[in-house]
Amino acid sequence: LPFVPNDSALIRTEAFIDGAWTGAASGARFAVTNPSTGELVAEVANCGAVDAQAAIDAAAAALEVWKRKTAKERAGVMRKWFELILAHQDDLARLMATEGGKALPEARGEIVYGASFIEWFAEEARRVTGDVLESPWANTRMLTFKQPIGVCAAITPWNFPHAMITRKVAPAIAAGCTIVLKPAEQTPLSALALAELAIRAGFPKGVINIVTADAANSVEVGKVLCASPVVRKLSFTGSTPVGRILMAQSAPTVKKLSLELGGHAPFIVFEDADINAAVAGAIASKYRNAGQTCVCTNRFFVHETVYEEFVARFTEKARLIKVGNVFAEGVTQGPLIEQQGIDKVESHVNDAVAKGARLLLGGKKVEGGAGLFYAATVLADATPDMQIAREETFGPVAAIFKFKDEADVIRLANDTEFGLASYFYSRDIARVWRVAEALDYGMVGVNTGILGNEVAPFGGVKQSGLGREGSRYGMDDYLEIKYVALGGM
Ligand code: ADP
Repeated sequence: LPFVPNDSALIRTEAFIDGAWTGAASGARFAVTNPSTGELVAEVANCGAVDAQAAIDAAAAALEVWKRKTAKERAGVMRKWFELILAHQDDLARLMATEGGKALPEARGEIVYGASFIEWFAEEARRVTGDVLESPWANTRMLTFKQPIGVCAAITPWNFPHAMITRKVAPAIAAGCTIVLKPAEQTPLSALALAELAIRAGFPKGVINIVTADAANSVEVGKVLCASPVVRKLSFTGSTPVGRILMAQSAPTVKKLSLELGGHAPFIVFEDADINAAVAGAIASKYRNAGQTCVCTNRFFVHETVYEEFVARFTEKARLIKVGNVFAEGVTQGPLIEQQGIDKVESHVNDAVAKGARLLLGGKKVEGGAGLFYAATVLADATPDMQIAREETFGPVAAIFKFKDEADVIRLANDTEFGLASYFYSRDIARVWRVAEALDYGMVGVNTGILGNEVAPFGGVKQSGLGREGSRYGMDDYLEIKYVALGGM
């Protein structure tokens, strides 16, 4: 490890099944590397179908215990888990930075953000209530129960190695469900550290199970999780193509699904915007995690009258981003996660420049480490025929388009199969309302470039996914409504 942990017991390399640290049945292991340096971080248990099934069995057995606890008891254990995470946030952040390449200030922010879901859903656990309904039949009384859906599965990505886990696990266990988690192959250690803290918090065995696997075995594990009739719900965050596969694989068992898939966020700067505020929001929304989040802006649309001013100020701010090893002093942008990411960014930049975009900043790799550093990049005069106008870049590249009128820019912004996050800046109240209604997105940031917190319903429309995570709606995905009719009254 490139740091000395305060608590070395947080560094775990075995899978976590039925309350025990276990190697894969096959004995196989896979390498986790540090994307800043290319160095080996750890060899982790490479689970397969047998281990996935063992985890499902453990979760099924634990369900009988966990769902019978009172919500207050479940909330109490969750609260302890939340406090332990905050107490160990420094180790957790540095572990995340090591395996995920997230710049340290952002990694620290993610631990606090991720923990907030556990606190929130511990509180929400106690507010799950059924109803007594007004019956149309004189001899009958009608009521509803809300009950945990059962054993759940979660598959999570590397770009939020902590928060995407807590955002799924917390509502599941708050509702009384148990869960099998398959974390991303790039960042399993952040997941396993959470399990160590879950043991200390006092969760019964089998409530939370973590099956670690490399890319190839993840496919096998995914098939077992989808095919199991015992698993009643699957929650996935990742790419749209993988989301489609999981949806198809879940059809035979008619699983309930939550899917948080790709985005292609537009960021519109109207002529009446506060340009300074827009630039600050634009930088935050574009370059966080080196552009590798599903809510990162992929297309900036700037009104022609403020275009040159915005482009100049934005470029000036983007120039201040310091790229490098996440443990180096002052670094605000780490590496991309892997070579594939670099390839996609290079392809989008080269294509845009060939089609007439003005390269104002970056457009090249930053030497060093494992060769995964890419400079913060600004491309002005982007046009709809460019690859970057259609596909999610998932890298530190800002493509800026010019527009003339509101109706036009709304049409352009909505012209995508994605519908996750969107942003716009305006100080005209009528326009704010009108545009917020017109954008076909699950989330709209008005005069802000940052959307996520535990109170907000996070999720997309169209091919960006199904369901909402976080917020008071987030628990519904883990509950079934049972209707009870009492006749003969
Ligand atoms: P990303 O672009 O964020 O890596 P992916 O959709 O490729 O997105 O991966 C997100 C998660 O999905 C990871 O945990 C990965 O291991 C898992 N995954 C990828 N392909 C499959 C698959 N065919 N079946 C099940 N899980 C998969």
